[in-house]
Amino acid sequence: MTAFILQLDGKPFPHALGKIVCVGRNYAAHAAELNNPVPSEPLLFIKPASAAAHFSEPVQLPSGRGSVHHELEMAVLIGAPLRAVDAASAQQAIAGIGLALDLTLREVQDKLKRDAHPWERSKAFDGAYPVSQFIGADGLDLHNLTLQLWRAGHLQQSGNTRDMLFAVSALIAEISHNFSLQPGDIVSTGTPAGVGPLQSGESLIATLGQHTADDLLRVEARVA
Ligand code: ZN
Repeated sequence: MTAFILQLDGKPFPHALGKIVCVGRNYAAHAAELNNPVPSEPLLFIKPASAAAHFSEPVQLPSGRGSVHHELEMAVLIGAPLRAVDAASAQQAIAGIGLALDLTLREVQDKLKRDAHPWERSKAFDGAYPVSQFIGADGLDLHNLTLQLWRAGHLQQSGNTRDMLFAVSALIAEISHNFSLQPGDIVSTGTPAGVGPLQSGESLIATLGQHTADDLLRVEARVA
């Protein structure tokens, strides 16, 4: 496997991918669809850099480990070191935004939850984080972007970042009070409702857009 290269505005990002910090249950409607309570503080977990894959390449699913659910998420690329900062400083450290799938082995995760074990077996496998190139976030209102996923031509997930329980800059600040963030880290901001199992051979289209403008980002891929 070749090393994953982060791309920002069509150019290689000058830092290697570090860790991917994910937030669970950041949209109330998604927490409800999995019968999970809405958290009072962000539920955090980390995927290693080895989980990253290029979203435009065929999405590889682990075999023999049960269903693999897609969770479409806005990914935020961190551009500056952050340690115990406030939301304003967190906002300034955002280098770009992208689209990602937080792939999840759902039955494996259900068992881990029942056993009160960590989630890595269900979330951190190789290829568990297909992520697009990033675009600069200057001038964008990160708290009003639509993200949508079509599977085999059907709209499967549709959300707006305004519905996040913990907004992007506050979320990054909160993370930085628990562990430092470095340039090249990604924060994955949670999935809206509509998650479900991927099927081999399906086509995928993911988009990130603003209300009135054309799509900011569009990714077309296929499940291997
Ligand atoms: Zn997720």
